[in-house]
Amino acid sequence: MKIGVLPIGRVDHAVLLRLKGGLTRVFPDTSCVVVDEKIPLSETAFNKERKQHRSHAILGEVQGYAVKKTSVNRVLGVVDTDTFVPGLNFVFGEAACPGKAALISLWRLRPESYGESFNMELFLERAVKEAVHEVVHTLGLRHCSHPSCVMHFSNSISDTDIKQSLFCDACYLHAKISIHKLR
Ligand SMILES: [Zn+2]
Ligand SMILES: [Zn+2]
Repeated sequence: MKIGVLPIGRVDHAVLLRLKGGLTRVFPDTSCVVVDEKIPLSETAFNKERKQHRSHAILGEVQGYAVKKTSVNRVLGVVDTDTFVPGLNFVFGEAACPGKAALISLWRLRPESYGESFNMELFLERAVKEAVHEVVHTLGLRHCSHPSCVMHFSNSISDTDIKQSLFCDACYLHAKISIHKLR
């Protein structure tokens, strides 16, 4: 699998590099690049009442980019803004399941968002977990009931902290087979 990491709007480059490293480490037979391009954060995706961006609209733009970018077979969009889908207060990310495009939001991964002190390492660990989670959705995997598996659904940040950036045995096997089929 070849993954391109795509910043949307302003995103710290050091975070993108960490995501690249984390994704490469977790997936078998996979390379990852931070792409040269970036796309702007769409104003039409902004909901003024909620003061949040519609995740699905941004994912659609990632999808549009992914179709054109033939040098990779998956694109992970990264935004640093608060995102939501109708019916949920917020989302950490969203992905086509299966598909080529995934999206994560860094906004609610910072300890400072919960009144805790700055902790770059914790923030980056959370970002890698959510990045792996969304990219795995693009392989067609759905949520896993094991709380420590990266495919466990994060309803809140404590779920993200409990899960690892790694798979349970069943999800690992499923992901490995799906990645193998891409080649
Ligand atoms: Zn999920
Ligand atoms: Zn699992």
